[in-house]
Amino acid sequence: MQNPQKIAVVGSGLVGSLLAVYLRKAGHIVHVYDRSPDIRQIQFSGRSINLAMSNRGWKALDAVGVGDAVRAIAIPMDKRAIHLVDKLNFQNYGQEGESIYSISRGILNRKMIDLAEDAGAEFFFEHKIWDVTLDEATLHIGETERGAWEEKKYDMVFGADGAFSRIRHRMQRQSMFDYSQEFLNIGYKELNIPANPDGTHKLDKNSFHIWPRGEYMLIALPNLDGSFTCTLFMPFEGENSFSALSDRKLVEDFFEKNFPDSIDVIPKLAEDFFKNPTSTLVTMKCFPWTYEDKIALIGDACHAIVPFYGQGMNAGFEDISVLNEMIQLYGEDWKTIFSEYQKSRKPNADAIAELSYRNFMEMSTKTADEKFLLQKKIEKSFSDKFPEKWIPLYSRVTFSDRPYAEALAIGDFQNTIMEEVLKMDNIEKIWDSIEVENKILELLK
Ligand SMILES: Cc1cc2nc3c(=O)[nH]c(=O)nc-3n(C[C@H](O)[C@H](O)[C@H](O)COP(=O)(O)OP(=O)(O)OC[C@H]3O[C@@H](n4cnc5c(N)ncnc54)[C@H](O)[C@@H]3O)c2cc1C
Repeated sequence: MQNPQKIAVVGSGLVGSLLAVYLRKAGHIVHVYDRSPDIRQIQFSGRSINLAMSNRGWKALDAVGVGDAVRAIAIPMDKRAIHLVDKLNFQNYGQEGESIYSISRGILNRKMIDLAEDAGAEFFFEHKIWDVTLDEATLHIGETERGAWEEKKYDMVFGADGAFSRIRHRMQRQSMFDYSQEFLNIGYKELNIPANPDGTHKLDKNSFHIWPRGEYMLIALPNLDGSFTCTLFMPFEGENSFSALSDRKLVEDFFEKNFPDSIDVIPKLAEDFFKNPTSTLVTMKCFPWTYEDKIALIGDACHAIVPFYGQGMNAGFEDISVLNEMIQLYGEDWKTIFSEYQKSRKPNADAIAELSYRNFMEMSTKTADEKFLLQKKIEKSFSDKFPEKWIPLYSRVTFSDRPYAEALAIGDFQNTIMEEVLKMDNIEKIWDSIEVENKILELLK
């Protein structure tokens, strides 16, 4: 057991509340601040974003004994259901028994706060943090930016306050602090597929549904109450864009033409389309993530990524696993714990940012492309036969805890091999043959 430290966590989101569980179980005094009201007291329609939880997330939850409490509110999805304009294809995500899990962000956040409170963390909601004194680990808390602030001193402060972090904002004002922020020209909007009258799901419940259409796509993830949360990703401007869909008729015609099988299952299409906001997507990178033994950033506060690999929260949870490993290794030497944590995580955060950015193309375009589906079939068949020689990129990212940077490098190498294989004569016919197998084995040497 370490010497108990007095620790503030800024942000009671998914990462902040799981971090609070870890720090409490290590015996520290933990105060969690959030500018928002307690999410457990707010009515939300259940239509908040769904998240896909995968291996890295489960690992962090299980290691601190809360995985099963979260499994109880999750729905396994073992495959993609790919809705083409004229047919429906299914593609398994991994090996038999491997799934990603759909969880409502709001329900999960409520559960994580309960778990952190049960572990003994104290929460202070509707407390806005405006600034932090880095040398002193002192928070400045107040109602407004210009009003009176209260000061609270801690032994250390964790900034788990998301992509637009105030804690990072203060760190940015030091020299030698690297920072970049890039918005996509693609936004997103949520829609809803309600449950059948008997509470069952209108689409296959154990699938991640995707309507790939090139520069835009629709996805749907199942909820426990029988509904699905849909997200439409689309450019802000241009021919097929949010700005082009400016009235009810245009929206309905667009869906009728491009997502014909969604029309019957999204009854309030136009109503939701104009009621729900169009949100932006940002990639944010920065370094360093820590200051001496006083301040550390974690989760989206130090690596916000676009959502196309379903890894943002998983990566944030993995930050906690790595921080915990460093605590086991370096005991009470917080300066070393912090510096080794950021050294280990930064290349991996950059790698998952890159993979997530690239995956928009894979989801929106390639899943509708016959050549790509053939490539996946060849990879799957080879990997089933030689699992020690070939783990597909998606599985490395989603179903393993090997570093993201390694997944990116090996994935690029595998892609060069597959490019050669797809050039083979008659590949559509011989994809399952010894000849193809030998070619891959030779290229792997
Ligand atoms: C459309 C979409 C889909 C996604 N899908 C997935 C997915 O399938 N799988 C996955 O793993 N990830 C996904 N993500 C990413 C995931 O949502 C984030 O990575 C995750 O929520 C980050 O958690 P966090 O706790 O670091 O930050 P946040 O969830 O942003 O929490 C930050 C908290 O800090 C509080 N806060 C902020 N500023 C202050 C302040 N000044 N004072 C006090 N409190 C403050 C906020 O109120 C908030 O509660 C998705 C994201 C989006 C946008």
